[in-house]
Order: sequence, then structure tokens, then C-alpha cells
Amino acid sequence: MSMTAGDGTAYRNYINGEWVAAADGRTGENYDPANGELIGHFPRSGQADVDRAAAAARTAFESWRKTPAPKRGEVLYRVGRLLEERKEDIARTLTREMGKVLVEARGDVQEAIDMAYYMAGEGRRLFGSIVPSELPNKAAYGVRDPLGVVACITPWNFPVAIPSWKTMAALIAGNTVILKPATDTPHSAVKYVEVFADAGLPAGVLNLVMGSGSEVGMPLVRHPDVAAISFTGSNEVGREVNVEAARELKRVTLELGGKNAIIVLDDADLDLAVDGILWSAFGTTGQRCTACSRLIVQRGARGELERRLLERIEKLRLGHGLAETTDVGPLINASQLERVHSYMSVAQREGVRILCGGEPAREGDLARGNFYRPTLFAGVKAGMRVEQEEIFGPVLAMIEVESLEEAIAVNNGTKFGLSSSIFTSNINAAQTAMRDLATGIVYVNAGTIGAEIQLPFGGTRGTGNGHREAGLGALEFFTEWKAIYVDYSGKLQRAQIDA
Ligand code: NAD
Repeated sequence: MSMTAGDGTAYRNYINGEWVAAADGRTGENYDPANGELIGHFPRSGQADVDRAAAAARTAFESWRKTPAPKRGEVLYRVGRLLEERKEDIARTLTREMGKVLVEARGDVQEAIDMAYYMAGEGRRLFGSIVPSELPNKAAYGVRDPLGVVACITPWNFPVAIPSWKTMAALIAGNTVILKPATDTPHSAVKYVEVFADAGLPAGVLNLVMGSGSEVGMPLVRHPDVAAISFTGSNEVGREVNVEAARELKRVTLELGGKNAIIVLDDADLDLAVDGILWSAFGTTGQRCTACSRLIVQRGARGELERRLLERIEKLRLGHGLAETTDVGPLINASQLERVHSYMSVAQREGVRILCGGEPAREGDLARGNFYRPTLFAGVKAGMRVEQEEIFGPVLAMIEVESLEEAIAVNNGTKFGLSSSIFTSNINAAQTAMRDLATGIVYVNAGTIGAEIQLPFGGTRGTGNGHREAGLGALEFFTEWKAIYVDYSGKLQRAQIDA
């Protein structure tokens, strides 16, 4: 909700059904990463705002948890319809502050629409379990209870989709929510929360508090009224959040980094593989947690694949994400650009060949934004830093292997385990890969990106802490089981003794 119109608009938090400035009035500016234009001023909130949101969410929880789940679902159906109506506007906002090309921004919003309808339907299911009792005239069943107030802390790379995965699953289960978006993408979060306000969600059920990780994120993690934290972001911060939440035995879900790989075997359809690799490695400028940053290619296919990839990478057009001609948008901010570039000297020190890219793009209008040339590394060996560390930019490391077994070992040899893919026309190889690739998501003859919301999303090893988002997996996190026994025998019946 804006206070003034036009450039330099000042936006507000959404707490207890009202759009309010940060308690001490502080704001921070946000800029378009493609051209440096000012987008607006956003609250730099602090402890007082977190306290206020937590109090509102705690109060609202008492009535929201008792609202029949199908009624909660009806709000989400309205949210879905409003998101559809506003899809183009929200997508343009998202591209402007995050940089991804418009077609991908539309996909980001579509994911929230899909999630709204999926979770709305869940309002008429939320299946529990009914089991027979070991005693006569006794009923035994399990129901899902909400947790209470949940904090959702989100990154900048999916400014609408990721908040939707968390908040919609939390809300349908009867929790109330405080959303803390990334400091680089608050405008998308405002547009997202406006939809809930307009859909008639009761006051206090969903609150938006903008600001930094240290001034809003950590106070939320520590807040005594916050029962659980759903976090997506970097490994470093995720670890900190987990350690802090553990002090109060709070439930935490962590969706963290990736070092995802595409395997291309000698028998693969190379045209298809090249399409999948380009989309996975350079889509969203490589800033997806599921982006492909390693290409594990069998020796026989390496030369031809390299030639075709170079030809196509040269043709990728950099530019503003709103321009229809753009294939690859900017990186999110200057420090991310520096971080990506710092890996070029790491690569050189490791003896890696930089086949293309390897530098910021500065010609013409590109000089005003954080643009980096799509980069391909060759001669990369398993264990090198550029093969192990998440770079989070348009950088692809090519590793040559001899066999399927070696490819799988290389894929599984990092501390991350989010997404992997294999291109092959051999059914036996595909089945073996599906069994042995140790990631939370596996694709066959498709790239590493493109998860759908009706299946669980998340990764193994250092990518998370074992929970899943989306699909029914999300409800496991946002509810806890209550076992109920109803004895209608009219006498004391002792389990394990009288049975
Ligand atoms: P980040 O860890 O810097 O920030 C994520 C969120 O945490 C932001 O809202 C930030 O303000 C907040 N935060 C920062 N410090 C905090 C603290 N001390 N306490 C509490 N909150 C704090 O991550 P980012 O740069 O926004 O996002 C990029 C990272 O996210 C990449 O590593 C990427 O792989 C990961 N990611 C993972 C998934 C997944 O589902 N696995 C999806 C998208 C992004």
C-alpha cells in the first residue's frame, strides 16, 4: 500500500490488517538491478514492529484456528482469482525489482496461483488418520493441529512463489503468519500481501514486516510468540537460524543452497540436452536454487556438446527483463556481481579454462545494471572449489567423466543435494540414475529446474534439514499431530493390560 504515487513511493508494513510505517519511521531504498532506477522506499523495521506483528498474529490465531478449514480455503480461492487478475501487474513489479525476464516473472506468479488453488482444495481434505483401537467401544484417531504463529523468512530470487509456498500452506493449516521478505524484493511482497487483504483475510492472520535479516529476521526467530520458522536462503544464514531456534526447541524448515548438475551421456539427444542446459544454467541468470551449475558429460559427447553450447551461449541477449528481446537479466545486486566475478580468479587458480564470458557486461545501457556474461568453464575436476561451491550466477562448470557410475558419484559428491538431471535414451541408465542420484529432485530428459507445486520440494544433505515444501509434504511441517482416544464403553479400559 503506497502513501504517495509515482517514483519514490513510500510503502508500509501490513500489521493487524493495517498498512503502517515502521515504529521509528525508518525506511530504506530499493533499486531496479537492471538500470539503478529508484523503485521506492520500504520500511526498515525493528523489534517494536516484530513485537506488534507477533501480538496481532497471536491474537488472530485463536479465531483463525477455529475457522473451519474449508472456509479458510475459500479465502485462498479468492486469493487465487485475484492473483490471476493481477498476474501481469505483479509480474512486471517482480521483474523490475528482481531482474528476471518477464516470462519467468509470470511463471513466478503462476506458481503462487497454482499453490493458492492447491492449498484451497486442501481445506476440504487435511486428512488425519482413523485407526482401530485395541479395546472394544473405543475410537482412536489422529488430527492435524496448527502450530500457532509462524515466521516465513524468504529470499529474493522467487519473490512471490516462495512466500506463497510457505504462507499458503501455513494458513490453510490454521496458523497465523508473519512474512519477512528479502530486502532486495519488498515491493513484490507488498503486492502479494495486498491480494490477501483484498480477499478478505481477517486482520492479523497474515502480517508483513519488511527489513533486514538482523533487525527483523533474527528478532522473529527469537520471539517467544513465534512457534516455528520457515526459512529459505543461504546455508550460512540457515545454519544460524537453526542454531538460534534450537535454544527454544522451535520447529524450523530450511531450504538452502544447491550445486545442481545435469548429466549428459553419450547416447543423449544433444539438441534436447542443449535446450535443457541453457534454460537451467542461464535462466533467472543462474540465480535459482535449482539452477544447473555443473554439467557432467560423458567423454564421447563432450566435444560436440561443447561446440553446440558455445554457439548458443554467444546468442543469449542480455538486457532489462521487461524487454521482449532479453534472454538473460541482471544479477540481483552489485555485491552478487562481485561474488560471481571473484570465482573467475578461483577458476584460473584451479587451472580451469574459461571458454566464454568471465566478465561483467558493460556496453551501452548494460553499464547501468549488474549484468554478467554467461560463462562456461571447461576442464573442471570433481573437488575443485568451482565444482563444489554455490556461485549463484550465470556460470556453468563442465566436468568430463567416463561412465554413468562416475557421473553419479560426481553428482553426489557435494555438500548439497537439491536437484539433478540426466539426459539419456537408455532406459537402464535412466532407472539407475533415478535410484542412485542422491538429491531431493531428479529429472530425466529435462533440466534441473521446473518443479511443480503438487510434489514435495527440497533437498538432501546441506540443502536443508529434511523437511519439504509444497505438495502434502508442506503440511507435515505446518501441523502437528494430536492423537485422540474416545472411550464409549462406560468403564475403565486399560490399554496394553485389558486388551
Ligand atoms: P540469505 O540467506 O542472504 O537471505 C534469506 C533471508 O534471510 C532474507 O530475507 C534475509 O533478510 C534473511 N536473513 C539474513 N540474515 C538473517 C539472520 N541473521 N537471521 C534471520 N534472517 C536473516 O539468502 P538470499 O541471498 O536472499 O537467497 C539466496 C540463497 O537462497 C541461495 O543460497 C539459494 O540457493 C537459496 N535458495 C534456496 C531455495 C531452496 O528452496 N532450496 C530456494 C531459493 C533460494
